[in-house]
Amino acid sequence: MREPSNIKIFLERFQAVVMGVKAVLIVCDGMGDRPVRRGHEWETPLSAANTPNLDELAAEGVNGIMDVISPGIVPGSDTAHLALLGYDPYEHYAGRGVFEALGAGLELRECDVAFRANFATVDERLVIKDRRAGRKGDKRLEAAIDGMEIDGVRVILRNTVGHRCAVVLRPLEEGVKLSKYVSDCDPHADGIRVAECKPLRDDDAARRTAAIVNEFLRRSHEILKEHPVNKERAERGVPPANFLLLRGAGEFFRVEGFEERWGFRAACVAGASLYKGVARFIGMDVLHVENATGDPNTDLRAKASAALKALEEYDLVFIHVKATDNFGHDGDFEGKKRMLERIDEELVAEVREVARSDTLIAVTADHSTPVSVKRHSGDPVPLLIHGEGVRRDDVSSFDELSAARGGLCRLRGADLMPMLADLMGFFKMYGT
Ligand code: ZN
Ligand code: ZN
Repeated sequence: MREPSNIKIFLERFQAVVMGVKAVLIVCDGMGDRPVRRGHEWETPLSAANTPNLDELAAEGVNGIMDVISPGIVPGSDTAHLALLGYDPYEHYAGRGVFEALGAGLELRECDVAFRANFATVDERLVIKDRRAGRKGDKRLEAAIDGMEIDGVRVILRNTVGHRCAVVLRPLEEGVKLSKYVSDCDPHADGIRVAECKPLRDDDAARRTAAIVNEFLRRSHEILKEHPVNKERAERGVPPANFLLLRGAGEFFRVEGFEERWGFRAACVAGASLYKGVARFIGMDVLHVENATGDPNTDLRAKASAALKALEEYDLVFIHVKATDNFGHDGDFEGKKRMLERIDEELVAEVREVARSDTLIAVTADHSTPVSVKRHSGDPVPLLIHGEGVRRDDVSSFDELSAARGGLCRLRGADLMPMLADLMGFFKMYGT
């Protein structure tokens, strides 16, 4: 006799095949903001921006505001994306370093401890002269360090973009335990001596990890300061990349894959490595898009066309745009507004025009980065969902204040993926 649960699963899949609704999820990093006074009006970069495509989607769709983790909790980009993509960040957060390493294309194993890192410039007393070594890395320097072995652990180094790197500590023998509970070596300011890595827990794994990190910093500095590439840099007036500043330790573990969890296939289009890393962590395919940089000059049209092409193969495509957050951190209202206008014209318009009429389009942010405070904040973010089956509301423009009057009211990041899955036909029924 067939199990009733099998019948249910069969029906669910059948329904999904028949409906075949696809979805595009656009996340503009740090898009949410607080109103600031401009002339006689109170405006946010989003309300001030000229965004006819987003406004039309809002007018034809359903809107709301969303506490991506929960009200008042200030999300990091990594935890926020876990929540938006349907993974409880309190349960599934592996630490920033893990996402950076995965985003750099490294394969990780259980028990690996990963860090994000910067090439930096230090003087002979290890005082930091430039935390980012002139924002320039070098593959030859990577090669000089990568593969170093210390105390039964291999150190893997990848130079990703500019001065940015990922570092992985991989135990070479069974039983060598490492820990993410170690302090950062990066004091986050120039003119200060490099910090020693300290265990943050009173156990062998944390003590061993801190000792290995400190030995790695010492040995890699010895190699880097004598390296011909750095002598060459000094001659050209480029700050030598003679130190690696490690931070954001994380421990890799495996989580339930996205398709297993939600019943449909998803792909990620992003420029910055953190978001590619989160996507890989949960088993999404990451698509390579030429000139998708994660910077304000990113090629949004290329991202749009990569996403549209991917919809032929995948059910959901997640598109990430980073620069809105950068402008928030810089306190640059005009820059953020212009970036949103570019997103409207070069990304949203393209997706809208080409996507099939039954393709859902959802637009939201991972958190607010108000230009007035130049950091992430706990303010809820706007969300719109456009497509067949959504209940239209009276909202006619896409911004934080209008969205708050929409039919979705106020929800949490954890609600997004179940809602999209339901609209797409990949619902999971609770009960019979
Ligand atoms: Zn973010
Ligand atoms: Zn940020």
